[in-house]
Amino acid sequence: MENKIIEKQNMAPFVDNLINAEAEVIGPKRKDGKYAFDKLIETGELCLDYDTTLLPPKMYLFPPKETLIKFELGKEPEVEPVVEAKPLILFGVHPYDIKAIELLDVAFSTTNPDINYLSKREKAVIIGVDCLNPNPNAFCPSLGTATAETGFDLMLTDIGDSYVVAIGSSKGEQLLTKYAETREASQVELAQRNSERQKALARYKVTLNISPEELPQLLDKSWDSPWWKEKSEKCLSCGSCIVVCPTCFCFDVQDDVTLNLKEGERYRQWDGCMLVDFAAVAGGGNFRGDKESRFRHRMYRKGKYIWERYGKLGCVGCGRCASACLAEIASPAETFNRLKEESK
Ligand code: SF4
Ligand code: SF4
Repeated sequence: MENKIIEKQNMAPFVDNLINAEAEVIGPKRKDGKYAFDKLIETGELCLDYDTTLLPPKMYLFPPKETLIKFELGKEPEVEPVVEAKPLILFGVHPYDIKAIELLDVAFSTTNPDINYLSKREKAVIIGVDCLNPNPNAFCPSLGTATAETGFDLMLTDIGDSYVVAIGSSKGEQLLTKYAETREASQVELAQRNSERQKALARYKVTLNISPEELPQLLDKSWDSPWWKEKSEKCLSCGSCIVVCPTCFCFDVQDDVTLNLKEGERYRQWDGCMLVDFAAVAGGGNFRGDKESRFRHRMYRKGKYIWERYGKLGCVGCGRCASACLAEIASPAETFNRLKEESK
């Protein structure tokens, strides 16, 4: 992989050039003492040294609410698919979010290709940045998601006075050539990148005491663990853990029809397995009507079901769920470590 250098004084002109180009540039900004991805109006808003954002960048590829079709009712009903996709640059995406997008790429293209997601994805450029100030609840190194070798067009690493830029695709290379002032990276600078990444690993506070490959087997043995009931008693069923998660991709589909019953739209919106009515069915039944089974199901999705279906773990260790959960029970690391202890 080719590597270049952007001096720090040349980063602002690069970002300005991108903002003034034809694509919308989305990046992490400060928001009420935290960070959030949002449209960049000027370079000064961009914070590349953030820990984690409230919501993951997936929301620009798989929006919380999205119209799928518009229809007109009548003797000859008319249906028009809605696929909205525009050129987009996701700037400053951490490796764990890049890994999460790689999972969504597989999930939304397997079995029934999802035209809405895939159209947005095709028009998106991902410019990553290594996470050197991890969130206290993150455990990415345990899942191999603290760095990324694939899934980005460009990847930045802050090495002090400059950024090393790894080129991951021809799209990324073209952007760099067109909009940035760069030079070749030296061996010393590449060694500095490794050193910064190593130092960042030491800043993580949470560790998983089991390898990710062992998780499906561990969960196979843990169906009847007392942990599910004990821990889920405090659950508020608020759904915050699934709303903030970069790997959750469940959605519900609804129709809205105007009062005159002449036209309407079909839309989807995020849904999730921690909400009470997620598994509700006609006739008043609910496959997971109690907190215990919902709590267990989410952990099985994260550590087993998604792995078995798509060959990738359903958790990238970002720690957002643990940060968002008022009941302090949502961290998969805590659950998996506890189950590992129980299994000894
Ligand atoms: S389950 Fe939690 S830690 Fe894992 S990816 Fe989702 S939000 Fe991040
Ligand atoms: S685990 Fe926490 S964040 Fe998730 S639904 Fe329960 S209380 Fe809400």
